[in-house]
Amino acid sequence: MNQDDRWVRLLESVGAVQTGHFLLSSGRHSERYVQCARVLEDPRNASLLGAELARQMAGEVDRVVSPPLGGILIGYEVARALGKPFQFPERVPDGLFQLRRGFSIRPGERIAIVEDVITTGRTTRELMALLHGHGAQTVGVGAIVDRSVNHEVDGWPVRALVRLEIPTYAYSECPLCARGVPIAQPGSRKQGVKEEA
Ligand code: ZN
Repeated sequence: MNQDDRWVRLLESVGAVQTGHFLLSSGRHSERYVQCARVLEDPRNASLLGAELARQMAGEVDRVVSPPLGGILIGYEVARALGKPFQFPERVPDGLFQLRRGFSIRPGERIAIVEDVITTGRTTRELMALLHGHGAQTVGVGAIVDRSVNHEVDGWPVRALVRLEIPTYAYSECPLCARGVPIAQPGSRKQGVKEEA
């Protein structure tokens, strides 16, 4: 079995890959949902995943930064494996990311961005905007699960342990809606799913 199979099986074994009818924050519907919190629930899994992702992202990195909440545990583990510091921004009331808690980033710092799941790349781009605004540079993008279509965000290839191609549907074309299957809204971001953010 290749590495990808190993990590998919790990996610499936802890119920992190769920099947059902899910409303994503983009408004689209999907029949599978990845809840990375389930695999990170066991710190041993978090360390394993972080070490492997760090191996794939190794390079000239000064700092690891992850978006809250979903990215924080895995980002921290990647930072641990790389032996580098870790920071996370927070959303201020207007919805933008901001560094708080005394966190700061120096101009020229080389930042690895780590997330749990990357789908549209929207959160990654928001984080890049914040970091670049501090004069830092992105040197890598990684995730436990890559659900993106092109496996890149703004030209950065997404390093991921698992690639899942999961179809999403507009409400009008959703086969699950057509069958009358009740829809769920997992995740933490507003009324939709964090992973689609
Ligand atoms: Zn639907």
